[in-house]
Amino acid sequence: MVDLKGQYQSIKERVDRSISEVIESTAFINGPEVHNFQKELEDYLGVKHVIPCANGTDALQIAMMGLGLKPGDEVITADFTFAATVEVIALLQLTPVLVDVDPVNFNIDIEAIKRAITPKTKAIVPVHLFGLSANMDEIMEIAEQHNLFVIEDNAQGIGADYTSKDGSKKKSGTIGHIASTSFFPSKNLGCYGDGGAIFTNDDALAHSIRGIVNHGMYERYHHDVVGVNSRLDSIQAAVLRAKLPNLDTYNESRRNAARQYTEAFKGIESIVTPTGFCDAGNSICDTCDCHVFHQYTLRILTANRDALVKHLSEHNIPCGVYYPIPLHSQKAYADSRYKESDFPVANQLVKEVISLPMHTELDTEQIEFITKTIIDFVTK
Ligand SMILES: *Cc1c(COP(=O)(O)O)cnc(C)c1O
Repeated sequence: MVDLKGQYQSIKERVDRSISEVIESTAFINGPEVHNFQKELEDYLGVKHVIPCANGTDALQIAMMGLGLKPGDEVITADFTFAATVEVIALLQLTPVLVDVDPVNFNIDIEAIKRAITPKTKAIVPVHLFGLSANMDEIMEIAEQHNLFVIEDNAQGIGADYTSKDGSKKKSGTIGHIASTSFFPSKNLGCYGDGGAIFTNDDALAHSIRGIVNHGMYERYHHDVVGVNSRLDSIQAAVLRAKLPNLDTYNESRRNAARQYTEAFKGIESIVTPTGFCDAGNSICDTCDCHVFHQYTLRILTANRDALVKHLSEHNIPCGVYYPIPLHSQKAYADSRYKESDFPVANQLVKEVISLPMHTELDTEQIEFITKTIIDFVTK
């Protein structure tokens, strides 16, 4: 599914040198690499504050702590995503409110958000699923009307552009009140271990968060709030500094692979290729970085997705099903408030989706082999 080794070979010299320098310096925690990475990521994203932390799940939790959300506050998020999002809501004793997603872009459904709002709603967490930004114009408008916070889960969308109705372009994760990301190795900007970060343009919120990640300390050994210990270590920051200058190139490689996949599947009726969002139809937008293809995910309409997964594995082609179970059906998050009829799209997608190998080192020959194997199977 991913080829981390091939990518490492291309940046080996810089990465090895930077890691050695960290070891020589012994500044393993909060060293200059962490600070420099933070500044460089702020510049890249065009956001005022980046606060590095230990992983993307912590980033979500800390963002919610920073906003001062209280037990019982309702937080709306998507039913079709990785569990981390709903997990931290539940851990903080907030009330998760899962809503359905859009069948075309797989992101949180705008009308479903509107229906889910109650006087207790305090925040919306859109997830920029598979590398495509959710509809932030609409989400920010709803948030403004109802006085809600917007926390962008940007773990899969780093580097993606979002183009607003007025034509202005921003990086995903810089539009809501606060955002989180993950540097898990297979993410679009991955380190060689665990890592994450929080982004915000709000100075007061950034200050609050900097204390929360460091045991609630704003002054040494003065603990003003209950915090956590969540740090990005210097070796991971060194790896990320080596990779950040290549992020746009990496994302362009992913988009190129996506274009080739989509081209190959053209005209195959039982396969729905992912939308490019900015463009009409299913072609991938050429004019901006709107989709960064953390995953390239097809819908297989012939009710034989599982047979296709088996067929691909027999041909040594890796694939993934993200995600096989909607969150409202997970034991930990099931709730009598939900009805199956609330989630027609998520319930359908879990049966249809399949994600193909997607990384920066895919070549045309591999893509041809993968697409041919799939097309042979679904048209036989
Ligand atoms: C990967 C991911 C996370 C969690 O990131 P970790 O660094 O693994 O904790 C959260 N949300 C989404 C959507 C993710 O894909």
